[in-house]
Amino acid sequence: MLRCGISRRSFIKFSGAMAAALALPASYGTRIAAAVESAPRLPLIWLRGQACGGDSQAFLLAADPTIGEILVDLLSVDYFDTLMASSGDAAAPSPTTIPGTAPAGYIAVIEGSIPTGADGTYCLVGGRAFVDVAREVCGGALATIAVGSCAFDGGLAAASGGMTASVGADSVAPAGTLINLPGCPMNVDNLTATVVHYLTFGTLPPADGRGRPLFAYGGLIHNQCERRAHFEFGEFVLAWGDEAAQKGWCLYKMGCKGPEAFANCPTVGYASGTSWPVQAGHGCIGCTMPRFWDAMGPAYARLPPPLPFAPNVTADQVGHAAIASVAAVTVVHGAASWVRGRGTRDAEHPVAIASPGVVTARPDTERSTPVSAADDTDAAPTGPEAMPMGRDVDDAIPPPSLEAPTPEGPALEGPSATEPVPEPEPEPDVGSEAPTPADTPDGSGDPG
Ligand code: SF4
Repeated sequence: MLRCGISRRSFIKFSGAMAAALALPASYGTRIAAAVESAPRLPLIWLRGQACGGDSQAFLLAADPTIGEILVDLLSVDYFDTLMASSGDAAAPSPTTIPGTAPAGYIAVIEGSIPTGADGTYCLVGGRAFVDVAREVCGGALATIAVGSCAFDGGLAAASGGMTASVGADSVAPAGTLINLPGCPMNVDNLTATVVHYLTFGTLPPADGRGRPLFAYGGLIHNQCERRAHFEFGEFVLAWGDEAAQKGWCLYKMGCKGPEAFANCPTVGYASGTSWPVQAGHGCIGCTMPRFWDAMGPAYARLPPPLPFAPNVTADQVGHAAIASVAAVTVVHGAASWVRGRGTRDAEHPVAIASPGVVTARPDTERSTPVSAADDTDAAPTGPEAMPMGRDVDDAIPPPSLEAPTPEGPALEGPSATEPVPEPEPEPDVGSEAPTPADTPDGSGDPG
């Protein structure tokens, strides 16, 4: 049993789900389980600025008790003004007391936008400008998690007509310590997965250029939507409540921004996967995208076409055409460079290939500049130009030697192989010791 009383079976299931949510191989479930089980409870300081409270609500309404309980078990929620029982001065976040209670470090969560107009007095917490409190708390945090679209880039308060000069958490959190979980509201499963990633690997998850984790914001909603087949077949809802709507057809013509928005809403869902807006029959409003109140509106109409003179051309088609154009230009440029390179090489090396395998040369008088022998050696080409001029390529290959290789090594002592070998001395014959007739006094050969 874990600290919060969750069974091991549920915990293993949770770890596997987190591995899947983080787009990790299933084998990482074991590693996640070990890391989460042994990790100390990380203090959490949750600050709420200009916000409706939807992200606090999402945090509280994690329908799956496993995820909700484990998130609370992983974190020591030391400050959360929506949840804490204390009030008044006791509930005021203090830049000296909050970090001081967590000497080993803490995680900061920012909910809502941060007004900077009028010296930050549009939003005061405990009598202090929220922007100052947020800057101090985020400045001392191990990591800051901005939850919701308002904390992402100012959200509704920063939309056109906004009066409070609101900004997102990236204006107060040190570079490299911030992860953004935009959405209206954020998805608590993504918050849990982010915390689990930090506990397991000691780092925030990889993110895109706007600080949104790729595991959650790396895919287009349109590509994950369960109504996508109807889009491909041209089956669209044309009026709220019509027969097509009842059949669950595509909401594109009702202003759905799924083709322009990145998030994992279709695969994760809200309320522990119970549903999500498109499943419930409402088009995506693109709330995970930057400046979505201005950039993604109006909610119930298509965005203006990227090419006003071609209203039926989509942004995808414009992108594909741009990619194709760049590819074509690259190919043409490469071919031109190759042709130019060939021309330059022919001019520098007075060699031309007349026929396959036969190399001829222009007379030296055609050389534009004299080339010394040393230069020729240094710049000797390695291709057919390396062959002697005017000869067939095969001629340049020396025929194999038929002579036996001479032995190598120190010269042997004694007569050389070229000197005549002396005749050996004849051995004395024992049987010929008897005197010959010439040796006897009478010449008879008889010694007597
Ligand atoms: Fe795409 Fe929206 Fe249609 Fe789903 S409902 S397929 S996200 S346009």
